[in-house]
This record gives sequence, C-alpha cells and structure tokens, in this order.
Amino acid sequence: MKTETTVSAREEAGEQVFEGLGVSSGIIVGPAHLRDSGEIQVLEYRLPQAKLDDEVVRFQDAVEKARRQVGKLKSKAESYHGAAAEELGYLLDAHLQMLKSNSLLGAVERRMRGEMLNAEAAVMAEIGEISKNFAEMDDSYLRARAQEVREVGLRIVRNLTKTEYGGFEHLAPGSIVIAEEITPADTALMDPKRIGGFATDLGGAEGHTAIMARSLGLPAVLGVTGLFAGIKTGDRVLVDGSNGRVIVNPTDKRLSDYKLRRKAIEQESRSLALLRDVDATTRDGRNVSLQANLELPRDLVQAVASGAQGVGLLRTEFMFMNREDLPDEEEQYESLRTIVEGMDGQTVTIRTLDVGGEKLTSSLGGHMGSALNPALGLRAIRLSLKEISLLETQLSAILRAGAHGPVRILLPMISNVGEVKEVKKVLTSVARKLTARGVDIADPLPPLGAMIEIPGAALAADALAQVVDFFAIGTNDLTMYTLAIDRSEEQVAHLYNPLHPAVLRLIQFSVEAALRARIPVSVCGEMAGDPKYTALLLGLGVRDLSMSATGLPRVKKRILKIDLRAASHHAMAVMDQHDSGRIAALLDDFNEGY
Ligand code: PEP
Ligand code: MG
Repeated sequence: MKTETTVSAREEAGEQVFEGLGVSSGIIVGPAHLRDSGEIQVLEYRLPQAKLDDEVVRFQDAVEKARRQVGKLKSKAESYHGAAAEELGYLLDAHLQMLKSNSLLGAVERRMRGEMLNAEAAVMAEIGEISKNFAEMDDSYLRARAQEVREVGLRIVRNLTKTEYGGFEHLAPGSIVIAEEITPADTALMDPKRIGGFATDLGGAEGHTAIMARSLGLPAVLGVTGLFAGIKTGDRVLVDGSNGRVIVNPTDKRLSDYKLRRKAIEQESRSLALLRDVDATTRDGRNVSLQANLELPRDLVQAVASGAQGVGLLRTEFMFMNREDLPDEEEQYESLRTIVEGMDGQTVTIRTLDVGGEKLTSSLGGHMGSALNPALGLRAIRLSLKEISLLETQLSAILRAGAHGPVRILLPMISNVGEVKEVKKVLTSVARKLTARGVDIADPLPPLGAMIEIPGAALAADALAQVVDFFAIGTNDLTMYTLAIDRSEEQVAHLYNPLHPAVLRLIQFSVEAALRARIPVSVCGEMAGDPKYTALLLGLGVRDLSMSATGLPRVKKRILKIDLRAASHHAMAVMDQHDSGRIAALLDDFNEGY
C-alpha cells in the first residue's frame, strides 16, 4: 500500500501531472505497475551458531543500504518546495529514524540470535508481529505507523534478497513500470513488446538506464520526485518521454490531445524510415558514416533496419548482467558471432568489458570490492588488467568471432599509453594460444582502438594516437569526468552539459590528434545521436558517428541539410566562446538556419 503523498505534482481536474527528465521520447498510456509493491516470498531457515555473526553482518549491511536509499530520496525531496514535498520529507525522516533506532533493528537481531533464524525471515516475522499489534489499535495515527514499519522492513528484505533481479514477464501487456530506481540491468530485462514504458524517482539523463531506454525505444521519464509515493498499481498513467511528464489518471481531454501528438510522431517515424537506404551526405557532397551502438543483441534488428553502416560500439556488459556467474569463452563467442554474422560484412566494434561506476553487475561483485567513488575506481580496463583471465577470455571470444566478419577491438576508460601496451601483449599471447589450438581467428588481428572518455586521455591524445589504430570519443564519460558531474545523478542533471567549452576543447583536441596521426576517429557518446549537435561535431572534423539505432534516422535527416563548409566556420565561432549558454544559442541559430 502507498501513502497519499505527492511532490512536484499538479492536480488538474482529477489528474496529477508530475515533471521529470524526459530521457527517451515517445508517448504511452497504460496501467501502472509499481515495482517492489508486491508481497515478497522469503525462505526461512535455521543457522548454526558459528554462522550467526556473519548473518547479523549481512542484515546490518542491508540496513545500511536502506539508509543510503532513503537518504538519497530525502535529499531529492528537499530540493523541492511546497507542502507535499514537506510531507514526503517527514515520511522519509520517519523511515530514516526507524533505520537508526533500536526498536525494530534490535528486535530483529534478538530474534535472529534467539531463534537462530536467517535475516530475511526474522525481518518478516518482526514486521508481521508489529503490524498485527498496531492494526488492533483504534488510533488511526498508530495504524499508519504500522504501515511505515512494514515499508521499512520490506525495503530491508528487498536488499537482503536482491529482489531487483526479478523480471517483468508476469506484467500485463502495455504496463508502465514505476519504481524508485531502475538499474541498467533491470532495463535489460524489459521486453518492449510487453512493457509500455517506465518512470522513476531517481536517475539522470545520461546514465545507462536512460541510454538503454532509448535503444529499446521505450518512452521513459526519470528523476520524478514523489512519483512512487503518489501512484498506485493499476492507476492509468501516461508517460510523455519527449517532454518529461508523467500524468496519473489523465482526463479524456488530455488523452485525446496526446492521441493527436502520438499520431504525428508515428507519421514522422514512417517518413524517417524512408531514409534507410539514403546515403548520409552533406549538401556539399561529403559522406558521413553513421553506425549503431548496441546495448543488447536484440538491438541488432533495429540497427539493420536503420541502415547503420556497421556497429560503432558494442557494449559487452549485457553478457555479464542479471547473473551470478561469469560467461565463459564459448558463450561470449556465440553471442558475438551472432552479432558479427547479423551485420553481414559490416564492421562490428566490440568494446571490452566496461563495468564499474553505475554499471555494476552481480557476477563481478566479488572482483570489484566496494569503492567509495566507484566511477573513479576499478572500472573498465582497470578491472580487465587486474583480472587478466577476464580479459583473456574476452579477447579470445572476440578474435574467434572475428573469423566470421570484420571486427575492431575497443578499450574503455584508457588513461595512458601503458594500458594499451599491456593489452597488446595479452592480445598477442591469446592469438598465439588460439592458433596453437588450431582455432580459426581474425586474420590479420583486428584494429585496436581506445575510448577517449577521460580528460587525461584527451589531453594525451597525441601520444595515444601513436599506439592505437583508432579513437572512439565517449562524450558521456568525457563530460562527466571533465565537469565532475555524475551522469546518472538526477540532482546535478541540470549541470551536465557537453556544450561546456572545456568538453568541446577536449573533443576538438582529440579529433585533431587523430587527424594528425591519420587514424580514424568517431564519436559514440550520446552527443552523436542528438541532431542538435550534428553540425557542431561535423564542423569539428568528425566524419564517423555511432549512436542508438533508434536515433540514427533523425541524425541522417539533419546531415542531409548541412553545408559542411558553413558548419566548419560555425564550429570555429563556437570554439571562440567561453559561455555554454552562448554556445547553445549560437548552435540553435545555426540549426534553425540550415
Ligand atoms: C561514453 O562514455 O560516452 C560511452 C560511449 O561509453 P558508455 O556510455 O558506455 O560509458
Ligand atoms: Mg563511457
């Protein structure tokens, strides 16, 4: 059951309008399904005395995680004003209080030790008892407290049982998933044929949850304060991913307005589909190569349908998500081979594993530890070089897939020349071992490239260009690390801006370094898939763009209108500016004129 609290919502004729970050465009109406709202089944078992201390630590970790979750929701509510925000703040304060006080937590621990019971069963038993006692009271205030105890207890149980791995197969078709937070791994479980879209209280526009929503074509709004507390499973809900709006119980008038807008969107996608076989050529005759980013194997269909000229970024993290074990060489090879064959002779750029930061997976939990700043910790190539067998397995699978079609190998989070040299050694040795085993591999060895997504790598691009065969500029992380703004954090989302002059200078410098060294350079961050930035990137010398296939036709349409010489002059004018607001205005002017 949910409380009645809402924040950032306007009541309009019986409907409620919530505002958030529209991260994946499209409009959808359907029944709301509140994630985590159902009953949780937990196992009950007895533990030997020797294991009890560890079990108590597991319980305390789950409580600590719950404190962090509630603290995050609370600080977000605090950034809003008004009575509803205040009310939600009080509620979350009460939850935090319970997570700190001894009455619930102490009772659970006593029950665990007294009955030698596992943690989740002890929490369920305790909240059952407290709820029963409160429910029998006449006082409505105390009855409401019982509900709060229950909510806090269930949060701890979810943390203990890692319920976030649950799929969405049981939902009614067209359901809209509403949650406090949805991870990239959760998004990977969403089937667009079943799920209509989703909306959450937390999450930023450039995090992987948002990127995956775009690539699946699922309308999504993130960072909607108070949404989860202000909606019930079964409520009719409209998600407007283009304008960042979630409307609960929309009026008939609202629905008919949106129906018209939806029709217009459908018409636009039909006309964009006609561009599939049209070359991406500027008005003055320069060709631009448009490639697809793949998050999941199922994105392949859309990549082919969009007319992508290859895969500019295959994020291999999907193979490690939603599982407790690691995929072996054979499994990785089969997955990669399917994609390489599916691209039918077009090059597939396969990036080695980039977990860490917001992209955590349970299968690698044990390897990664719990860093205070995971985005600055053992992420991506750093993990691969520490756990060499992980890298060897992946490179073997890539080399074997490369026997079925052209591939390139891309290394994430490169910060120095030494890392590339180390990978080269591993690559040579893996290739030698495979050949000795008589296994078919890519011949010659595939080109090896570096992601330019750390400011230090961009500034050292001249040196890096001497040791790699190509660059792929990752503007998502480049923006995050240059401006020190977490890309998946809704509270600072308004500060995240790839048009900051510092970010643009790093892009410009990397492109020029690649051109000087005569190696190919592409942009594969989210900037590449937004037509607003196309003229600027082309003006800076980029001729290769890789993006979610769903965004590709719109970028192609933009390219057909651009005069490259004008775009280059314009880019120079942009690079003279010091203020991102002024840069955005200049860009708008240019985009309107051409
Ligand atoms: C980037 O950082 O821009 C990028 C393309 O990589 P990812 O989004 O997977 O971190
Ligand atoms: Mg990145």
